Amino acid sequence: MPLDFNFIENLIGLQDIKVIFVNVNNGIVEIHAESKTHSVSCPKCNKTTYKVHDYRIQLYEHLPICDKTTILHLKIRRYICECDFNHPFDEAFSFIRKYQPHTIPFEEFIFKLTCKNTIKNVAELLGFSDNKVQRIFNHYAKIKIDTKEMGPFIFLGIDDIAKSKGHVYYTVIYNHETGDVAALIDGRTKESVVKYITKNFTKEQRESVLAVSLDMSKTYAAAVLECFPNAALVTDRFHISQAFHVAVDKARKHIQNKIRKEDGDKKKVFGIRWAFLKNHEDLKAEEEKLLEQVCSEYPMLRTCYELKEEFRTFFHITNIDEASVYIDYFTALVAESEIPELQSFCKTLNNWREYILNYYYFFISNGPTEGRNHKLKNIKRRGYGYRNIDNFRLRICSECA
Ligand SMILES: [Zn+2]
Repeated sequence: MPLDFNFIENLIGLQDIKVIFVNVNNGIVEIHAESKTHSVSCPKCNKTTYKVHDYRIQLYEHLPICDKTTILHLKIRRYICECDFNHPFDEAFSFIRKYQPHTIPFEEFIFKLTCKNTIKNVAELLGFSDNKVQRIFNHYAKIKIDTKEMGPFIFLGIDDIAKSKGHVYYTVIYNHETGDVAALIDGRTKESVVKYITKNFTKEQRESVLAVSLDMSKTYAAAVLECFPNAALVTDRFHISQAFHVAVDKARKHIQNKIRKEDGDKKKVFGIRWAFLKNHEDLKAEEEKLLEQVCSEYPMLRTCYELKEEFRTFFHITNIDEASVYIDYFTALVAESEIPELQSFCKTLNNWREYILNYYYFFISNGPTEGRNHKLKNIKRRGYGYRNIDNFRLRICSECA
């Protein structure tokens, strides 16, 4: 029974070629094919030419058929045009990139794999080198990013993220509207951010930004003011909460150390650290008991704990005037407490008051949404393996696109 080459042509899905012979050799599927057309238009003069100069057979790896490595043996004709007899030229195929030994569908398949796996895994799976897979990934990731509509940016978030345990940081810029990562910058200094943004964002993109959420660091505030001339700064609520918890924890430690010193009992154990930071309603019975015991013995710890619980109210306020009044109220409460760590937190709160209150105009926050958490985890997990920031950026930006 003659083999139905038409079926093979449909199966492999490559445009404009005629299959002339198929063979399975040592577990490798070999497909011999040539172009269906017998003419090309000259790249120089655009005229159609039928004159074949010579041909060669070029091998391309294609998508595996039934888990078998599949090699396309493609006959490539060299044509010659009357406009220039000295320079014959190859016919072109839409499914081949110049100088690549694979078909485009196969490369796109590799790209798809790399989107869900590490480069190393894919390389192992295919028996390719890491570099080869990385190059294919980079090519298609760039296409994906380039063809994606970027901007205008309206609401952004800026944050740092530890690259590794060695205190090396990236700066991440989020697009709040789309949930994308708009930029990944090496370092977290003002200079590195300004340099990257002015180079990679258009003037229109920078001017269209209305608000940027950020931590309470002068570095990012200065960078944002310089990069986005029309943007309001919004102190991120997640960072306020974080800073507050750090202050509470420091205060607790300080108070406990003082008690130990005054009691003359250096080994005195409280064991309340986690219970202290937990929301009151989340306490286990034994935690609550211990906490209550310690707090009734040491009023300073009670004051600190009560102030911690009190400040939770702030995050439920939805109205700017109320929020402003609350900051005053809480600052006054803390002033009475004589807990220096909390007083210093309130100072910070007041220093950033304008930007904290800006939240009520834009309601943006860097806080962990589920999708962002997942992306951050990926950035961190994969970050360890990326020595090359450009490869890493491509990965993050294409993944989050
Ligand atoms: Zn020509």
